[in-house]
Amino acid sequence: MIIVVKNSHEEKQFNNLIDWIKELGLDVHISHGQNTTVLGLVGDTSKVDIDLISSLDIVDKVQRVQEPYKNANRKFHPEDTIVDVNGVKIGGLNFQVIAGPCSVESESQIIEVAKAVKEAGATMLRGGAFKPRTSPYAFQGLKDTGIELLLKAKRETGLPIVTELLSVSHLDLFADVDVIQIGARNMQNFELLKEVGKTGKPILLKRGLANTLQELLMSAEYIMAEGDSEVILCERGIRTFETMTRNTLDLSAVPALKERTHLPIIIDPSHSTGTAKYVEPMSLASVGAGADGLIIEVHNDPKRALCDGAQSLNPEQFTSLVEKIKKMIPIVGRTFGNE
Ligand code: PEP
Ligand code: MN
Repeated sequence: MIIVVKNSHEEKQFNNLIDWIKELGLDVHISHGQNTTVLGLVGDTSKVDIDLISSLDIVDKVQRVQEPYKNANRKFHPEDTIVDVNGVKIGGLNFQVIAGPCSVESESQIIEVAKAVKEAGATMLRGGAFKPRTSPYAFQGLKDTGIELLLKAKRETGLPIVTELLSVSHLDLFADVDVIQIGARNMQNFELLKEVGKTGKPILLKRGLANTLQELLMSAEYIMAEGDSEVILCERGIRTFETMTRNTLDLSAVPALKERTHLPIIIDPSHSTGTAKYVEPMSLASVGAGADGLIIEVHNDPKRALCDGAQSLNPEQFTSLVEKIKKMIPIVGRTFGNE
């Protein structure tokens, strides 16, 4: 971190500032220029309050030269992290496809979809049991019964399951869930992030509707600071002025995140586009962009889906998409499934 001190400072103020920085456990390099004095802070500045320093009378400006995320930072962990979900590896050269309905609706629905996506080549099963709906009158999910049905589908197909946690009070129900999803609306629910970080389980962290990539990394940092390094990031589209798609898929998030973090990054082409027809082109574009996987909504009868039918592929469409993905994967030097 660099602090530029105002020209007009008094010696006493300056010394107080230096003492205060040292009290924070940091070293200071002072360089007196002709017109300005610049302080270089050396040490762990992640806990330093940049706004507080900026507000001091003596300070002209403050700039971070190091990112405030340590655990998620590629600088301190140059190798890709490979998250192992019960033997399904995501990250590195491994490319995985998570598929399933938006919501678990009934036993026959989830078992039918699970079998169909497994047959098509999906390597994990998704399905919401607790649903964060905009309207309180919309289907809220089957809750604990939904989790039981997902576990049944897991027993029948062998696919690890991914499902969203909305509240810490439901955590006990997630004991046998393989990947806990933190949805877009909870990306900055910091208490929830801390609690899932204590589980040590793989966490699928979705980007918030109006959050920057740096904020996404800071949320990953909340989970990792609790000792859980198994975080999978997910770009699922952000809010922009565009209305032709449900959200705007920020595909450049993949190279931008890959440069800064070692965590795997997957794309959700379903929630980002909101339209089944757009899922295939954006899935293939995600492979090209270097994503580590996809999470795709698939329903056995999209027209009758209780949630997100318009963006859900049917099993035939999903099968045809996976075939195309499999053709593309070697071209980008990856392996479909485990390496
Ligand atoms: C979901 O995956 O079903 C979901 C609600 O996603 P998001 O949090 O990205 O809206
Ligand atoms: Mn959905």
